[in-house]
Amino acid sequence: MHVRRPSLDPASAEPVIVLGAGPGGLAVAAALARRGVRALVLERSDAVGASWRRHYDRLHLHTPRRLSGLPGMAIPRRFGRWVSRDDVVRYLEAYAARHHLRVRTGVEVTRVERGPAGWVVRTAGGETFTARELVVATGYNHTPVPPRWPGVDTFTGELLHAADYRNPVPFRGRDVLVVGVGNTGAEIAVDLVEGGAGRVRLAVRTPPHIVRRSSAGWPAQLTGILVRRLPVPVVDRIARLLALVEVPDLGRYGLPRPRTGLYSRVKEGSVPVQDVGLIDAVRAGTVEPVAALDAVDGPDVLLADGSRLTPDVVIAATGYLRGLEPIVGHLGVLDARGLPVAHGPRTPVGAPGLYFTGYTNPISGMFRELRIDAVRIARAVARRRARAGGARGARAGGARVAVGDPAVPVGGRTR
Ligand SMILES: Cc1cc2nc3c(=O)[nH]c(=O)nc-3n(C[C@H](O)[C@H](O)[C@H](O)COP(=O)(O)OP(=O)(O)OC[C@H]3O[C@@H](n4cnc5c(N)ncnc54)[C@H](O)[C@@H]3O)c2cc1C
Repeated sequence: MHVRRPSLDPASAEPVIVLGAGPGGLAVAAALARRGVRALVLERSDAVGASWRRHYDRLHLHTPRRLSGLPGMAIPRRFGRWVSRDDVVRYLEAYAARHHLRVRTGVEVTRVERGPAGWVVRTAGGETFTARELVVATGYNHTPVPPRWPGVDTFTGELLHAADYRNPVPFRGRDVLVVGVGNTGAEIAVDLVEGGAGRVRLAVRTPPHIVRRSSAGWPAQLTGILVRRLPVPVVDRIARLLALVEVPDLGRYGLPRPRTGLYSRVKEGSVPVQDVGLIDAVRAGTVEPVAALDAVDGPDVLLADGSRLTPDVVIAATGYLRGLEPIVGHLGVLDARGLPVAHGPRTPVGAPGLYFTGYTNPISGMFRELRIDAVRIARAVARRRARAGGARGARAGGARVAVGDPAVPVGGRTR
């Protein structure tokens, strides 16, 4: 196997390496290409858009097509207003081709270190790459959080993480308990009902905020964009009023209105549930909300209200971790929650040329934020390259020029 050693000669380093060929990484590479910088994108799977290829079959973007395009190429009109999972994948493939992006698939990055030319990137296959600038875009939903309920190992039914759910076919006629009512849990519950599951219950610890994906043609995302810079208590109040108008009280079905405000919850990392059928299913009694799952005992699950259920299948919609610690944790660029301390065009103090994109969960839509950050990161990279070029030229002429970087202190966050 050909192993590339980190070069000590800064001149032979890649100008920019991007980790991950999802929408975030591709967007940055394309924005750089439009500035004449050819980034190398390293992707661990065998194709671009790997996360989208793995999502469940019925998934559609809940942000409208026109607000979800990446820089330099709109999502084709023929994909409709709410773009299907397969069409998202088609779009990402066409996007990478249109911008002639250099994507190397089958390369899993395991660790990033500081190097003489900027950054040294180590991979599971033993290859090493060097780059002046590095953009980390390995995804917010990186590592499924396995359920850790007491007794979970004793469960005699079938247990799977929502990340492994594709469609309702294997669950026809069966009694299924979905645990967790974020967007994924809510949509899987509806999918199971529509696909013929025998019984579907939804274990709820904290009642979610539910919003209509679109009301009278007005998408929820637009509201999110308009209010995102307002004070949190103001947005909480607006959201409460909107919910009273748009969303019926499901309290008598076991899904009461949440006590904490919508935007307060977003700031804690929990986005509202976009209704794609949950409200109707709960009112029709086909999705039954039940108390949170506390423990497992052989064939039974024990709920927080003291009741016991014996489902055939438990689907744990228990979320994801960022999984950044092994790759960059030792660089001191992550906060206590494992999120980068700087995001978008900003870089952590002491880590010039290290960018992160895709590690927020905004109400204004992630594709939209990935687009904005890609353009900003490309601009920041271009500026640094220009300054470095100027500094080299100045040094050749005998002057000393410091190369600065827009930075935020470790522990502070930009968004
Ligand atoms: C179910 C679901 C629905 C969503 N719907 C919407 C929506 O409607 N609208 C919206 O705006 N946003 C939506 N999002 C949020 C967001 O837009 C998507 O998650 C989007 O895919 C994020 O893009 P990304 O590039 O940051 O991460 P990802 O798409 O996860 O891409 C990360 C890439 O990095 C690769 N990778 C990971 N680790 C490594 C490594 N160590 N080395 C090399 N490569 C690596 C992965 O294989 C992957 O290809 C949704 C998210 C989910 C989970």
